[in-house]
Order: sequence, then structure tokens, then C-alpha cells
Amino acid sequence: MKTALLIDEDQVVRESLARWLRQTGLAVIEAADGETGMALALAKKPDLILCDQLAPRCNGFQLCRFLRAQPDALPRPRIVLTTSGGFGVDRQGALEAGADEHLVKPIFQHDLVLLLESFRGNGGTSFTTITTQPRRAKPPGEAAEPLGDGVIPPGPMSVRFWGVRGSLPTPGPSTVYYGGNTSCVEVRADGQLIILDAGTGIRGLGLKLAEEFQETPLSMTLLISHTHWDHIQGLPFFDAAYHSRNRLRILGYEGAQAGLKSLLSGQMESPYFPVGLQQMPGHIVVEELKDSTFHLGPVEVKSMFVNHPGICVGYRINASGGSVAYLPDNEPYQRYKFHTAHPEFSDTTEFLAYGQRMDQKLADFVRDVDVLILDAQYDLAEYQARVGWGHGCVDDAVALAAQACVKRLFLFHHDPSHDDEKVTRMAEWGRQFVTTLNESVKVDAAREGLEVILKPTAAAEGALQ
Ligand SMILES: [Zn+2]
Ligand SMILES: [Zn+2]
Repeated sequence: MKTALLIDEDQVVRESLARWLRQTGLAVIEAADGETGMALALAKKPDLILCDQLAPRCNGFQLCRFLRAQPDALPRPRIVLTTSGGFGVDRQGALEAGADEHLVKPIFQHDLVLLLESFRGNGGTSFTTITTQPRRAKPPGEAAEPLGDGVIPPGPMSVRFWGVRGSLPTPGPSTVYYGGNTSCVEVRADGQLIILDAGTGIRGLGLKLAEEFQETPLSMTLLISHTHWDHIQGLPFFDAAYHSRNRLRILGYEGAQAGLKSLLSGQMESPYFPVGLQQMPGHIVVEELKDSTFHLGPVEVKSMFVNHPGICVGYRINASGGSVAYLPDNEPYQRYKFHTAHPEFSDTTEFLAYGQRMDQKLADFVRDVDVLILDAQYDLAEYQARVGWGHGCVDDAVALAAQACVKRLFLFHHDPSHDDEKVTRMAEWGRQFVTTLNESVKVDAAREGLEVILKPTAAAEGALQ
């Protein structure tokens, strides 16, 4: 083993790993994103690759699958996927994709050395140093090719909840007020119709659009946070996708197991559904995103990978009328790292510091947003029993919103076992908790049918439900 390739967006992580790798006699080359990393892997043929599972522009699973599929291009390198999370399903996904090992951050020098020793066998000891600069990021504006066409009549920016439930649809008398449909939120801004996730709530949106626009052709963008069922299962029932006059762009990131298009098509294969994705009469395009900032017409959209099993992102929409952030599934790192640290093996303080730094990035991502829609599936006591499930609690959602000076927080992804009374109590606790923090975030529980008009005029204020 002579050369190691490090792929991680986080410079702090890269610096310490590179130092330790060099101390073992390895030459180290670095990349801040997966695409650059892939190019370096093919050009430099490293013996060891450490790649962040959530590397931007080409995630670790993708990189692994691609390299393993071309044994001629690259002699078999050792590949280690690294992750901030540590969900069991991710380790399984990494090994299935062809990784030799899967390490949870923060990574300690001792663990890295042990791993290298296990790889090294009788390997050589003489290494040369190669220094390669990470590719320069595109300057802002260069990547911004507009993706959508505006069709929505001018008006204030609005947010409407069509599905607020997590995990599983839960219709019935105990969920009438908040609703039982899974994740779907409609945002209208600057002429763009943007749909966040396609849980079962998207069915109601389709019916409403048909009523509102009738025969007028529609151009819509559907942003997928991830492909767990509760975020895609309504798509086969989205009326607007059944009219050839309509155009639907589906945007998201490649999943842990396969591409976005094959995952979306998979749930519509004949054993599960009578109409395939390609057979839907609407003009449907599925595009995998690489950049974390892109534009839909004049609207700027930013994405950020969050702590949830597999590949999952949150979106932030910045428009002329305001800003909305949508993070339907997320487990804050700090509390998670506290619970998963093993004091007998490692330093809990270091785990906590790492978690704090990661949560700070999330706070920066949602800073000053007008509306934050955030995973608050559990109350604190429930969370303690579900650490590592990929979801958060009310207390952490409120604390994040307060830290980031968010104006309005909507608790989202309600647990299927929570009835209306329980969700109301959780929202009340959230409001109480805000006052104990001495902050002014307005806290509510998201509910189906609720429309929020940003910066409302006097007339629009009256229409607010
Ligand atoms: Zn979910
Ligand atoms: Zn999920």
C-alpha cells in the first residue's frame, strides 16, 4: 500500500486523517468532493481510498459501485467509506456496494492504524509524497442553469402542507386534525411550483391542481429528500402526472443502493402497481443532482445532507418573497453522538465536539429562514428509546430553530402512533420551551391543509387558515 486517497468535504476531518496516514508512511492525495475523488482515483490508482459516504457530487456508495465495476481501470484498491451517522443499514449498504470497511466519525488515530495494519499484510514500506490540490469549486453563478419554467400566477410566496406524517399513513378519527398523509409540502414562489416530497399527501395536491388550473399546462418541480416510502409512495397517485400537457421534473440525489430513477420506477413495477413511471402520460424527467446549490427559474435552492439512514437531504428555498427550509427526516448529531459514544473505547468529549460542529453546520444552513419545517417525530422521552432511528425530538428542533434565529418552526414528520392530542401537547411544549430559552421563534405543529403566506398583505392575512 503506497498511496491513499482521501475524499471528504470537511477540511478538518481531511487534515487529521491525512496527517495520520502520512505518519504511517503513506502518500496522501485529497479531494473535497466525490467527482474530483473519482477522477483522482482513476488517474492516480491509489491503494487505499477513504471516502465520506455523503461526499458531494458523487457519494461514497456511487464511487464504490463504479470502481468495483471497473476492475481493469483500477487494480482493486482498499475502499473505506466513512460516515458521520453510523446507522446499521449504512454499514450494510457500504459493504454491499463493495467497500472493505465502514468507519464512523469522529475517527481516532488508533482505530485507523489498526485498520491499516489489518489491510497491510506484508505490504511495502517505501512511499513517495504526491500533493494534489482539490479541484476549485465552481464560482457562484457558473453552475446556475435554470431548471424550471414558471407558470404560477404572481403572488406572495406560500407554503401549504399536504402530508405531515412520518413513516406510514395513519388515517382515522384520532388523526383528523393534523392529518394522516405522509410527507408532501407545496411551495409557490416567483412563478415556480415546487413540491417537497411525494408522500401520500401529493394525491390531494394533484386533485387541487386539477381543480385550480383545469386544462392549463403545468410545469412543476418535485424535490425528493430521500426515497424512503413515506416520501415517494404517493407519486403513482399524483393526478398531474397523468396529463400529457403537464411537465414534472423530479430532482434528488442518488440513493445508497441505486439511482433515483430506478428507485422511483421500482415502486411502480408491475408486481406493485399497474402503471410504470415511464408509462405515466405526463412529461416526466428524473434528474440526479450533484451541486448543492441550483436554481429553479429565479428561485435559489440549496441542499444539505442530513443525519438519517442512507442518503437524505434537506432543502432550503430562497425566493424574492422569503425563505423556507425543509428537513423532514433528521436526527441531530449532538445528542446522537452522546448516546452512541463508548467511554470505554473513546473520548466522549471528542464525540460531543464533533456532534456540536455538525449541528452547527445545520444551524448555519437554516439560519434566519422564515419557515423551518423540521423533523420532530418524538418527544424527549420517546427519543431516548429510539436513538439511532434517524429522527429528532421537539426539544432539539426548538433549540436548533432558536440557535438559527428562525422566524417560524413547524414540527413535522409526526409519529404514526401520535394522535391529535399528543401532537398538540408536543407543540405546546415546544412553545413553552422557546420561552425558557428566552427566544421568540413561533412554534406550531404542521397540519394538513394549513397554508402559510409569507410576508402577507392585509388581504392575504385573512386567508391564512
Ligand atoms: Zn420519513
Ligand atoms: Zn426516512
